[in-house]
Amino acid sequence: MTVCDAAVPRIACLPDLLISQIAAGEIVERPASVLKELLENALDAGGTAIVAQLEAGGVRLMRVSDDGCGIAREDLALALTRHATSKIHSLADLEGVASMGFRGEALASVASVSRLLLISRARGSPHAWRLCAESGAEAEPAALMQGTVVEMRDLYYNTPARRKFLKSEGTEYGHCLDVLKRVALSQPQVAFSLSHNGRVTLHLPRTEVSTRVRAILGDAFIDTARHVAADAGALALSGLAQDPVFAGEADAGRARNQYAFVNGRFVRDKLLAHAIREAYRDVLHGGRQPAYCLFLSIDPAAVDVNVHPAKTEVRFRDARGVHQFVFHVLQQALATGRERGAQAPLATAAVDDRRFHQPGLRMRETTPEVYFRFTQDVMEDERSGDSAALPKGLPLEAAPDRDAKAADDAPPPLGYALAQLSGIYILAQNATGLVLVDMHAAHERILYEQLKSALDQRAMGAQKLLLPAVFKASPLEIDTAENHVATLAELGFELGLAGPGELVLRAVPCLLQGGDPVKLARALLSELEEHGFSRRMTAYRNELLATMACHGAVRAHRQLTLAEMNALLRQMENTERSGQCNHGRPTWTTLSLAELDRLFLRGR
Ligand code: ADP
Ligand code: MG
Repeated sequence: MTVCDAAVPRIACLPDLLISQIAAGEIVERPASVLKELLENALDAGGTAIVAQLEAGGVRLMRVSDDGCGIAREDLALALTRHATSKIHSLADLEGVASMGFRGEALASVASVSRLLLISRARGSPHAWRLCAESGAEAEPAALMQGTVVEMRDLYYNTPARRKFLKSEGTEYGHCLDVLKRVALSQPQVAFSLSHNGRVTLHLPRTEVSTRVRAILGDAFIDTARHVAADAGALALSGLAQDPVFAGEADAGRARNQYAFVNGRFVRDKLLAHAIREAYRDVLHGGRQPAYCLFLSIDPAAVDVNVHPAKTEVRFRDARGVHQFVFHVLQQALATGRERGAQAPLATAAVDDRRFHQPGLRMRETTPEVYFRFTQDVMEDERSGDSAALPKGLPLEAAPDRDAKAADDAPPPLGYALAQLSGIYILAQNATGLVLVDMHAAHERILYEQLKSALDQRAMGAQKLLLPAVFKASPLEIDTAENHVATLAELGFELGLAGPGELVLRAVPCLLQGGDPVKLARALLSELEEHGFSRRMTAYRNELLATMACHGAVRAHRQLTLAEMNALLRQMENTERSGQCNHGRPTWTTLSLAELDRLFLRGR
């Protein structure tokens, strides 16, 4: 026997249970992902009233009841079998799929990592049947008025390694609540109720879109939101988007209320998120996060929902057309749509905009550039898997030669400060006349560039706080802080658990000692949470740094001394791209003496 023979591994088919357990790894990430599958099944069955009961964050028990069509006795066992589904039968069905599920693997996966029980009464059947998901189990008669009850107990009881990844009961419940909100937003005509440990925590009667949005995003949102409604035939966008003026800073346990749906399915789609961010780009300030709830309708054949088992990602056939449509519609709504959300009925106020009948054609000139920015960002994301390929921020230009120039009498380019105007602008005088500087915007850009270069040079020093700041944090914030310890440290933050529901901030980046440390930490957590902890920080570091810069920059209405103003002007002269803030607006402008003369009709 040769060495080679001995080393050849043999191939064997995996046992069914193990196959399901492997698939479960992708589908059943945590209780919330089970809840999502069960809710979607209830909706696919035509349920109009859905009740979800959880115990211990959904780990000990999750029971979802619906009043849908039910499952025939003969099909109960099939429902638990992998790749068995009532929703599609052919590839053609898959390409035009309108149901939430279609892969036929959710129940089998859940059953492989928990104790699962199905009770169902198929429409027209004289009574219900129950079936435990155990090998050899038989269906037994049961009592149930209508619909289906799926009961899951003891998630991961047989896969202890996975159980270790579960977070606290509160965190898992928080994720379940998020899932229910997302599903409920897209299905206002269905009543939902959620309870945790015997207490009803969310009760949503049947209604229409705007009332449902109000119930979930709150009065403040809906009263100040802009109405979005455009129907281009192949594509339609409707919903509500927060007025930029009211967009809050991402802070204080306030969940990031950003919901995007494609054909009723909640998605985390990079392309949509980008189009939305771009539409807000010119009108929204720094770390502020607009709340929105937007529904995109598209021909099911033009979008692939079968990208990932959990189906929260999609792929558009005409990505560019979708990007342009969403960007354009939303940008217009933000620029002009003054009518408040609550007034106009959402579903009916469709605007027929013929320009969109051929997405990709005859758009505003700015849109190709915006889409280009998207593709660049994505490419950068992909490249930055290798941190060595990261574009290097430019180190700050050395100051000495500037000082030397200052020494030979001529005032520096941005001149010397004279005064501060209404807490927002710095007035300065240079060789040509008056210089006006937006102090927050300018400072933000300076910090942003400094942060970039500090991070590039791995020199983001951390400054211990004299008094560590303890603050109340949501389960998601705590979860995020725990999952991103290394990233936070790299950014100069030291953040730890202080007690139940509390975090403690011990250090902040040296460059950002001026701002409110807790607000800053929260904004960062919210940003990190959005990007998920599996993604490498390099892929979105500029967004993180922009958020940090915004929070570190001097706020409007802070009184600056002349010396502070002059220091800011000198820093601007020494900073790359200081002529524009991070959002592309100018940071300063001038009024020359000649222009002033013209204003006063002097010298005529
Ligand atoms: P999929 O939803 O992808 O078809 P699942 O494993 O989630 O796969 O469900 C398998 C099948 O069980 C479904 O196709 C459906 O026929 C049936 N089923 C599951 N849940 C329900 C329910 N709540 N009401 C009626 N039928 C259900
Ligand atoms: Mg399903």
